Amino acid sequence: MKLKNFITSFLLVFVTLTVTAQNNPEPKQFLKTFHNISSNKILQFAEELSSDKYKGRLSGSPEYLEAAQWCAGKFKEWGVLPANNGSYFQYFPNEYSEVFTKGKVTYSSQKGEKIQLQFSDDYLPGSNSASGTVSGNLVYVGYGITAPELDYDDYKNVDVKGKVILLESGIPYTRNDTTLASWTPYAYHRYKFRNAVKHGAAGMLYISKLANPNTVNLENFVYAHIDQKIAEQIFSDAGKNYSEIKTELSKMKTPSFALPANQTVSITAKTQYFPDAKACNVIGKIEGSDPVLKNEVIIVGGHLDGQGYLGEIFPSALDNASGVADILGAAKAFAESEIKPKRTVLFILLGGEECGLYGSKFYAENPLFPIDKTLLMINLDMVGNGSGFHIANGKSYPELFAHFEKVNTKYLHRKMGASEWRKNYGRPRSDASNFENAGITTFSLYTSGSVFPVHYHQPLDKTDVLTPEIMEDAAKLLYLGILGIANDENLKMN
Ligand SMILES: [Zn+2]
Repeated sequence: MKLKNFITSFLLVFVTLTVTAQNNPEPKQFLKTFHNISSNKILQFAEELSSDKYKGRLSGSPEYLEAAQWCAGKFKEWGVLPANNGSYFQYFPNEYSEVFTKGKVTYSSQKGEKIQLQFSDDYLPGSNSASGTVSGNLVYVGYGITAPELDYDDYKNVDVKGKVILLESGIPYTRNDTTLASWTPYAYHRYKFRNAVKHGAAGMLYISKLANPNTVNLENFVYAHIDQKIAEQIFSDAGKNYSEIKTELSKMKTPSFALPANQTVSITAKTQYFPDAKACNVIGKIEGSDPVLKNEVIIVGGHLDGQGYLGEIFPSALDNASGVADILGAAKAFAESEIKPKRTVLFILLGGEECGLYGSKFYAENPLFPIDKTLLMINLDMVGNGSGFHIANGKSYPELFAHFEKVNTKYLHRKMGASEWRKNYGRPRSDASNFENAGITTFSLYTSGSVFPVHYHQPLDKTDVLTPEIMEDAAKLLYLGILGIANDENLKMN
């Protein structure tokens, strides 16, 4: 090695060490807290939130508010400060429906066979169904969209007055470009339900067997969700091939049709609608220690609500007791750590996500810190079943992502992917989108490489599908990664 090269190398190492030391001023003390983050504790948080007493944490319900109280109690116990004028809670309107029983769905074939559908295998009750019974003939209405400006109407050849419709979720256009944006208003379940009622439909079988509070309660409109195999049977009894119909649908033809008159269905639901209910975000903070940088904030968020109770509890463990448990693990570490981050860190457990991203929208419209002082929002949704991590948008903000990458390379050794930011022309599906639309840089943290089956919006989403080790590592990644960002004086607000 030539002397000049040697000096250059020496300087490089020296500069690197100095910069590292600045970013991690007291590595030892931080590491003690870091190693105290335990998978046991984090699993306990997820088990508590998934337990029967919170009844699946349906946003707006009393049980959701109890779960929120429990989380706030933990913040208080650890010394995470209330962030909303001395309160941990930020309330917003959140109508909801209480579902009392599994209800009943009976299908009568043309041959006169009466088949009672089985709960959870064949059907799920509608989260916002009206209470009562609806019986009648069936009419298939495809996507149920009436869009004159797009020259598209699923209802143009059928009369659904007083009938039970068979409806598909989704829209006929899926490519993520500007054309998708003109279809997006029709992608909302609420739009489809209202359009069905506008056309006079009396009830509905929704061919989408997912528990889903992101719908709407309409007077006397009784509905249930059915599995695709039930739709296939109903079509085959009518002498139709369901997959052929789906192909026509994908080609933007509107293959709506009335089923034979002697093919009927009866749907019963027992529910109560609460139009004036409220839910809340739970917000705790760790105040920054630097007199100037403390005015800048980093948000760690994830939704606390779940699918609730539909005649059986939907524990909503992976979606998203896991993400909340990871956040609680990180919040506890920040609170226990003797040395505080230079910037302020805000922990937001969001309500109303499953109902339509209510909590994140409310925060974005009523932020507790100025939007232009919010350096990053990292969202956790379903972070508890897997062997690796993925950070969406990470590639577009390398100076922020580097802090997570560093922690992973040094301590966690997980597979960690990242993707570029790209505009979403479709229906916003994540809390992060509301922060992003407000002008905040967002990351979304996911676990990759599922270890257990994912029972998305099903009653089987229980804590036994969680991998506690990845949850521990998620909390560790958050703790040291956010700390690195909070202390990085080279980061500037745009
Ligand atoms: Zn979720």
